[in-house]
Amino acid sequence: MPPNATDELVQQARFRLTALRDTMGTLQPATRHGLSARFLFNLCRRAVEGLERQIPEGPQAAEDTVVQDAVKALMASTGFFHFLLSFVTSAVNERVPEAMTVPLEKVAGQVVEHNRMLVYYDWTPSNYSFRRDFPRRLKEQLVEALDDEDDPAIKAVPQLFAVLSIPAAERNNVLLHSALAHEVGHALVEQLPLPLPPLELPPNQKPVDATTLLSKWQHELLADAWATVLLGPAPLLSLMELSPHDHASNDHPCNFLRFTLMRHCLEKSGFLGAGKPPVDMEWLSGHVESALTRAQTSQPGANEALFVWAHKQLLQRISEMLDHVSKHDLVAYKREAWDSECLKRPSVHALVWRILHCTPPDRIDHKQEQPSLASILNAGWATHKSPARWQKFCAQFCLKQDVEYNSLLRLNQLLLKAIEITSIRLEWGVPLQ
Ligand SMILES: [Zn+2]
Repeated sequence: MPPNATDELVQQARFRLTALRDTMGTLQPATRHGLSARFLFNLCRRAVEGLERQIPEGPQAAEDTVVQDAVKALMASTGFFHFLLSFVTSAVNERVPEAMTVPLEKVAGQVVEHNRMLVYYDWTPSNYSFRRDFPRRLKEQLVEALDDEDDPAIKAVPQLFAVLSIPAAERNNVLLHSALAHEVGHALVEQLPLPLPPLELPPNQKPVDATTLLSKWQHELLADAWATVLLGPAPLLSLMELSPHDHASNDHPCNFLRFTLMRHCLEKSGFLGAGKPPVDMEWLSGHVESALTRAQTSQPGANEALFVWAHKQLLQRISEMLDHVSKHDLVAYKREAWDSECLKRPSVHALVWRILHCTPPDRIDHKQEQPSLASILNAGWATHKSPARWQKFCAQFCLKQDVEYNSLLRLNQLLLKAIEITSIRLEWGVPLQ
């Protein structure tokens, strides 16, 4: 007897779950793939077991719409966990983000209360982004699959988890990944117990529109501020590369506002302005100045009044946030992230010198302190953005075509090597020979 419509649906659901189980069978996240990969993999495995228990047994009535709806929901859940597994696959098969992001995760873990945040990375065809809704969706799907709201793993998901996306086409562009600090910043803004009362509105603004806009802008700008706290000037340089002529939108303020506030953070950290910048990094202040001048020529547009208003209030709020950060005793922050001192230990100048000689910038040297992720990335930008240095670096490659592209690739390989060596040495505490 041919299967009826309900039986056919049940069979399809079984096929999909089998396919999901098969995909899981080919993956075995190991310690080196990071805590987040193993955490997600285990959640996925438990969810599949839960979904399998929900498949109805035996022949079903042909027109049983209740069963049909339940099976359709089950298939949708299976699709979600396929999607989730693709994150794990990217972490297991693509080592670049792990090497790059483990230090960021450590710093983020220090800044967030309870030291419990996991950051997860996903490849997308588009841009760097923070997937704000993902933890909520994951929790809903886990409750469906496991039918147990009191499960500690399910309860912890929204607080534990942040999902960041990396553009697939840029997966090897370590320099550009400095932008990840902005996305980590979004997760920090969400999780830190910072008071974020609504900003006051200027006169003659429609309250609903302006409040929504300002609240979105505020999140973006605080994420930018965090990015400069974590990695110094590097995220600003990424932003200039990613969106050089951006205007304000409903989600993002215009670059002029973003650059100005990031510049303010760099001044507060002692990198720009009255303080003396670290040796050989003066190039950046000129670079930031010219970018600001270019951005200034773009019009803030219809929201000009709002822009001026937001600028004043956000400067104040960012100052409060930076004071808040400085009150923490952040061990990993001091070791991994940026402060005006970290570019001197060893100096970015020394790191750049090594890059220019095609040596990974943290060449083993027992006498010197391990460079931070921030130093390595800023040394990369210092090489790439200084015309004289970049010319010197490119000149080493006798390539007739695509000199620029191949040189950038080589620079990224050197930086990645440095980050990997640093991570391994910090993890194991032993020098590599
Ligand atoms: Zn953002």
